[in-house]
Amino acid sequence: AIDVQQLHKYFGDNEVLKGIDFHVANGQVVCVIGPSGSGKSTLLRCVNLLETPTSGKILIEGDEITDPDADVDKLRARIGMVFQSFNLFPHMTVLRNLTIAQQKVKGRKKEEAIEVARRNLEKVGLSEKESAYPAHLSGGQQQRVAIARALSMDPDLMLFDEPTSALDPELVGDVLEVMKDLASEGMTMMVVTHEMGFAREVGDNLVFMDGGVIVEEGDPNEVLANPQHERTQAFLSKVL
Ligand code: ATP
Ligand code: MG
Repeated sequence: AIDVQQLHKYFGDNEVLKGIDFHVANGQVVCVIGPSGSGKSTLLRCVNLLETPTSGKILIEGDEITDPDADVDKLRARIGMVFQSFNLFPHMTVLRNLTIAQQKVKGRKKEEAIEVARRNLEKVGLSEKESAYPAHLSGGQQQRVAIARALSMDPDLMLFDEPTSALDPELVGDVLEVMKDLASEGMTMMVVTHEMGFAREVGDNLVFMDGGVIVEEGDPNEVLANPQHERTQAFLSKVL
């Protein structure tokens, strides 16, 4: 589970997150939508400790990751993150992309890391690509490798920041399908997305952010069909 309590984040004197509170139960999928600059990526990056919150608390499975004494590397290893750009190591094969952090961060032996990697490549439908280099894969395949790489660390939760936004339209479906499978296996997920169909079908909760606050949240079908706030209505009228 993820608990965020009164999270504030400033960049200089720009207050980007203005007191965010939310809860993600184990096995839940929360989708986050909102206009550009509303703080969605910053929120995700705070949950992954890529940004240090200015104030407030974040708890993962009850452990306060914002505690100054927390072991950041150890906590980060419990959280998988997938970005809009795929961030694979270009000079390594797909298999090596999946094994390196397992060996370096988790201390797994090579054989075990390879076994875990192959299991996750199979899960994303890319077993036959293990010897390929990222440049020889489509964007959708690269993103599925990035998901398999994150899963190979056995994360407690997965964060996705617009994982399909950089993809050609015909490649989006395969990536969403992998994410949907993951959700149905019970992975706890936070997904920043413009894919309203995914939010409706897979999301347990939909959060609408604007100007660094959560304006509205609830059941995705309800929020999309019947937004309560004017700002949500205005945003949805542009994207739906
Ligand atoms: P988008 O939909 O375009 O991805 P977003 O909702 O993810 O937008 P953020 O990337 O979280 O928005 O940015 C929120 C605000 O914080 C923006 O005004 C941005 O300029 C600012 N910001 C983000 N990262 C930094 C940084 N490292 N330094 C300074 N300002 C930043
Ligand atoms: Mg963003």
